[in-house]
Amino acid sequence: MRVLVLGGTAEARALAAALDAAGVAFESSLAGRVARPRLPAGAVRIGGFGGADGLAAYIGRNGVSHLVDATHPFAATMSTNAVEAGRAAGVPVLRLARPGWANRPDAAAWHWVSTLDEMRTTAERLGSRPFVSTGRQTLPAFDSWSERDVLVRIVEPLAVTPPPRWTVIEDRGPYTLDGELELLSDHRVDVLLTKDSGGSYTCAKLSAAAGLGVPVVVLRRPPAFPGAVEVTSVDACVERLLAAAAAR
Ligand code: NAP
Repeated sequence: MRVLVLGGTAEARALAAALDAAGVAFESSLAGRVARPRLPAGAVRIGGFGGADGLAAYIGRNGVSHLVDATHPFAATMSTNAVEAGRAAGVPVLRLARPGWANRPDAAAWHWVSTLDEMRTTAERLGSRPFVSTGRQTLPAFDSWSERDVLVRIVEPLAVTPPPRWTVIEDRGPYTLDGELELLSDHRVDVLLTKDSGGSYTCAKLSAAAGLGVPVVVLRRPPAFPGAVEVTSVDACVERLLAAAAAR
C-alpha cells in the first residue's frame, strides 16, 4: 500500500502523523501557495500536478495505491481532480473533510449564502464595517468596498496594495475567543464574513461574533464531486486505509 495525501489542512497533517505512526507508506502533497507552510510528518512534495491527467500520471509513476483528498472543503478544483485522477488511474479515493459549522447552536442565526456576490450584497444590508475572513482568493469579490473600513485577515501577504481604508492582518490561527473579541471590538466590526470551513482553528471568531451581537454571513461549501468515499475524521480515514491494507 502506498498512500498519497492531498493536504494543506490541519486534518491532513494529523492524518500524516497517524499514518507515520502506523507504519503506512505515504507521501503528502501541498499546493505551494504558502511561503512557509506547516509541514506534515513524512515525505512531502510541493506544487500542482497539472490537472487531473497530471495527477493520474503521478499516481501511476509513483505506485500510489490509495489517494486521500484531505484538502480544504473549499478546494473544489483539487477535489474534482482527485476523483477524476483516481478513476483514470484505477485507485480508490477517500475524501477526508471535517464537518462544517452548521450544527453549532449559533448557526441558526447566521445568513447563509451560496456565492461571493450574494455574500457581498447580504453583508451590505447588515453592516458597514465588515470583517472579511474568507481568504485571499475571495478578495476581488469585495473590490467595490474600497471606500469602506474593511478588516481583512489572510495567511499570505497580498500581491497588490489594498485600499487605504482597509486593515489587512496576516495570521493563520489557531485563534482564541479573547483574541477574537478584542479584534472585533477594536475594529468596531459590525458584520463577519466567513466560509463554512469547519474545524476548531478558526471558529473562535464565530463565538466572538455571537457574544458581541455581530451578524455572520456564511458561504456554503461547494457541493461534493461524486466518486469519493467520504469520511469526516482522521481516525475513520486511518481505519479505512488499514482495513484496505489488511484486505490486500
Ligand atoms: P483549488 O482551487 O481546489 O486547486 C487549484 C489547483 O491547485 C489544483 O488544480 C492543483 O493544481 C493545485 N492544488 C491544490 N491543492 C493541492 C495539493 N494539496 N497538492 C498539489 N496541488 C494542489 O485549491 P485552493 O482552494 O487554491 O487551495 C490550495 C491549497 O490550499 C489546498 O491544498 C487546500 O487544502 C489549501 N487551503 C485552501 C483553503 C481554501 O479556502 N480554499 C483554505 C485553507 C487551505 P494542478 O491542477 O496543477 O494539480
